[in-house]
Amino acid sequence: MPNSTPITIPATIRTRFAPSPTGFLHLGGARTALFSWAYARHHHGAFVLRIEDTDRERSTQAATDAILDSMAWLGLDYDEGPFYQTRRMARYRETLDDMLARGLAYYCYMTQEELEALREAQMARGEKPRYDGRWRPENSVRKEPPAGVKPVIRFRNPDEGTVVWEDRVKGRIEIANSELDDLVIARSDGMPTYNFCVVIDDIDMRITHVIRGDDHVNNTPRQINIFRALGSEPPVFAHVPTVLGEDGQKLSKRHGAVGVMEYESAGYLPEAMVNFLARLGWAHGNDEVFSAPMLCEWFELDAISPAPSRFNTDKLRWLNQEHMKMLPLDELGRRLLPYLQRENIDATHGPAPKDVAELFRERTATLVEMAQAARFLYMVPVPDRALLDEQIQSHNRQALAELLEEFQQINWTREAINGALKAAAKKQSLKPPQIMMPVRALVAGTLTTPAIDRILELLGREETLARLQDGMKITA
Ligand code: GLU
Repeated sequence: MPNSTPITIPATIRTRFAPSPTGFLHLGGARTALFSWAYARHHHGAFVLRIEDTDRERSTQAATDAILDSMAWLGLDYDEGPFYQTRRMARYRETLDDMLARGLAYYCYMTQEELEALREAQMARGEKPRYDGRWRPENSVRKEPPAGVKPVIRFRNPDEGTVVWEDRVKGRIEIANSELDDLVIARSDGMPTYNFCVVIDDIDMRITHVIRGDDHVNNTPRQINIFRALGSEPPVFAHVPTVLGEDGQKLSKRHGAVGVMEYESAGYLPEAMVNFLARLGWAHGNDEVFSAPMLCEWFELDAISPAPSRFNTDKLRWLNQEHMKMLPLDELGRRLLPYLQRENIDATHGPAPKDVAELFRERTATLVEMAQAARFLYMVPVPDRALLDEQIQSHNRQALAELLEEFQQINWTREAINGALKAAAKKQSLKPPQIMMPVRALVAGTLTTPAIDRILELLGREETLARLQDGMKITA
């Protein structure tokens, strides 16, 4: 009976990235953002950006800008936001009042000293320190609020039962409510706390899937209880394991670059970075090299590994080179240009960046290395006297002089240059390298260069002749 098949319209998937702007966007955060973005894109859903800036002391505009820049660089576009929590205070306040009125939350007047004393007594008895509920309305009917104590607001956590969720990365997680105490949801200065704001935001922004670092796993059962108290079904949770450094320790500044934009400065392509970040804990079969659109097509939460992943510089370098090879040359040249400028190279005189890119993309792993390797194409290298003395000796001096003559006659094409190099060697019964190596030393200041005929062609006849003549004079 085909007509009776129920049609289920899937709810739109809505994910969010919710960074606290207290520092750079580090690799772990960028990976979380990437997964949330890719999941939304895969399902043609919405990706929301929310800036969790309620910690006014540690949040800065510079950090917010760094997050926005990093996301723009990686191409993680968002459909809604950025929403700033500090601009939503009225909404939090209104919900707190409502929860107080409905008995879902209550004022607690316990002082810091009382809390300390409770904690010590519990520890002395070998118990886990937890708030004992003494200001719950039923326990404090006859108690007068002490003068001068500004109360916090606590959420009335259920006493019975367990909180259970099917984490899409970690599997089923169960926590007994007896393990959880009544969480502070607003501090004594009235400021709502992180766990509370997150829930209100995830409800208001209609988030269906929370993908975040597993450092938040302990917060999740508390947040689920608040969702339920407010009559909302909690979203699906996927807690992604940490990114470890190469040595297996938690990734930190010790490991070198931690901010995403440091990789931009180091000459990595955003395409490679996205590819690399995706492979930190996620896989699609044996695919290693892929683009952001391919990632979006493939991305499913089930393929996230529950084991921590490790950063690997060699792999990042390899991926970067693979992506450099995949870019059209014109585009790679355009990407190279700012890196040439950062090396103080004036690229308006000399070879086109796309030609440089073609020469070096098989030999360098980053745009910084490419720009550095290309320096001699734009600037006369500092002569290396020892190298010149080693390369230019009586056996090849005559051949080099004849080559200079020949270079003034020929058509300046790669083929003709190559012919002249070989002919000059042959005439003096030398092997081609006995001519090509000294020419490299003379024009490039090094013996490790790409094809010398192409380099000379790019340098042009005049520049080539000038460098050869000047260098020969030094060794004469
Ligand atoms: N603001 C939190 C953080 O940066 C993330 C909160 C969340 O994703 O739920 O760690």
